Amino acid sequence: MEPKTAEKLPHGAPSEVSLKNVTARYPVLINKYYLELSRQKGDPVARQILPDPLELSKKNEALAEDPIKEDSHSPVANLTHRYPDRVLFLVSDKCPIYCRFCTRKRKVGKSLAVTSHTVSAGIRYIADNPTVRDVLLSGGDPLMLDPSELARILDQLRCIPHVEIIRIGSRVPAAQPEKITSELASILTAGDPLYVHTHFNHPDELTDQALDACRILADAGIPLNSQTVLLKGINDDPDTLEALFRTLLTMRVRPYYLFQADKVRGTDHFRTPLMQGIQIMEELHLRTSPMALPTFAVDLPDGAGKVFPTAATVLNPGGPDQAIVTPDGRVVPYRD
Ligand SMILES: *Cc1c(COP(=O)(O)O)cnc(C)c1O
Ligand code: SF4
Repeated sequence: MEPKTAEKLPHGAPSEVSLKNVTARYPVLINKYYLELSRQKGDPVARQILPDPLELSKKNEALAEDPIKEDSHSPVANLTHRYPDRVLFLVSDKCPIYCRFCTRKRKVGKSLAVTSHTVSAGIRYIADNPTVRDVLLSGGDPLMLDPSELARILDQLRCIPHVEIIRIGSRVPAAQPEKITSELASILTAGDPLYVHTHFNHPDELTDQALDACRILADAGIPLNSQTVLLKGINDDPDTLEALFRTLLTMRVRPYYLFQADKVRGTDHFRTPLMQGIQIMEELHLRTSPMALPTFAVDLPDGAGKVFPTAATVLNPGGPDQAIVTPDGRVVPYRD
């Protein structure tokens, strides 16, 4: 095969050199299912996984790696305890794909370092802290774990009397749906009450296979939610999101959060202006039932956690002094 040179690439396409620099910093992982889906559907799917020279733009390089400060609220490795009654617990360093916009881009494919030691230390922390009634397992992706390992973690959490509910955040139903089997579902039901938070961003991800995956989980009695990230040029319009949320409901998946993309280094080119998300939600409220509407959520740039801004709680919308008023009355600057 002839070597490809920059001249031979279509106008505007990234050169191999610049892509090499991107992937040296931010690894690429694409599986067969999602690659095939990208081929069939094109941009809105493909852009979620294909490396882009923009990841190394000046603007991106100026951003923090962990703006929402998960690591500084971390009493033990891989566990974030920001809210009194619930913890975020990273138990897997494997993902079905590497999403280019990931909030944990700093860790994806590298330093997450989940070991049996960090997992036991996290479980011990939860056992020692009776205010924790809700454990959100994430990663990486917990459903990428070896099923016996996942079963062991759920079993240990279930032995802690104050843990009322377990949640699992997973991209697997969207990105590797064939992994959802009835065997896996029965492992999850052993963690009951256990919720699965899926992560779908675009109607093109709602394939027959994804539908089957959700059906297996829902038939096993597992409540399903979806967390969507608002992504520039991918799903940042009311029509796309309405189609996504309404179809999710038909799959027995309740839209839970629509996340404003965090100001994370390497992901800036996916970010939308704050008011755009708010306006999209206002438009959707006019069109459809709150059943189909997630809560628009923003992780504050000062590390104070999530807020749910509306037009009424944004000061100087769109301007250089834009700020969010928090429920406890603080005014937190939020620049687009
Ligand atoms: C988002 C998040 C949770 C879960 O919060 P909910 O708003 O209840 O879904 C828990 N811990 C951390 C650190 C989080 O960022
Ligand atoms: S699967 Fe989840 S954790 Fe992994 S890269 Fe995608 S968004 Fe990030």
